[in-house]
Amino acid sequence: MAGLTDCGIMTEHLDAYVARGEALTAAQEAHLRSCEACQADLRLLQALQEALLEATPAAPPPPALREVILAAARPTAAEPARTPRRRWWPAALSAAAALTGALTLAALLQSGSTLAVLPDPAVVVKTCCAVEVGAGRFKGVAA
Ligand SMILES: [Zn+2]
Repeated sequence: MAGLTDCGIMTEHLDAYVARGEALTAAQEAHLRSCEACQADLRLLQALQEALLEATPAAPPPPALREVILAAARPTAAEPARTPRRRWWPAALSAAAALTGALTLAALLQSGSTLAVLPDPAVVVKTCCAVEVGAGRFKGVAA
């Protein structure tokens, strides 16, 4: 016997501590740290519990357990199933492309003369195609 707690009372508490996981009070823990007899009782109870668990055959779960677990996992009416998340980046990419186009167009219009930026159609025709004119027909030939 050591401290304020009696060894006889400690045995009951140790049984509940090992069997059901009930917590010990600070005074009981202090007694356990200082009393070798109670430490030996604790080791014996833990060894008995372990031996009983090993000797007990594993039982298959009851057939209804699967349905109970699945029912608990199903969403209720108040909690609808989650919809898949929508991807945000295609919309953001489209918005960025539209904004870039609008800014480019605004810059072209603000520069005063859009025609100064665009190439002269006559130069384009001269550089890309040779145009033959004969007998009232135009015949384009790729350069
Ligand atoms: Zn004791």
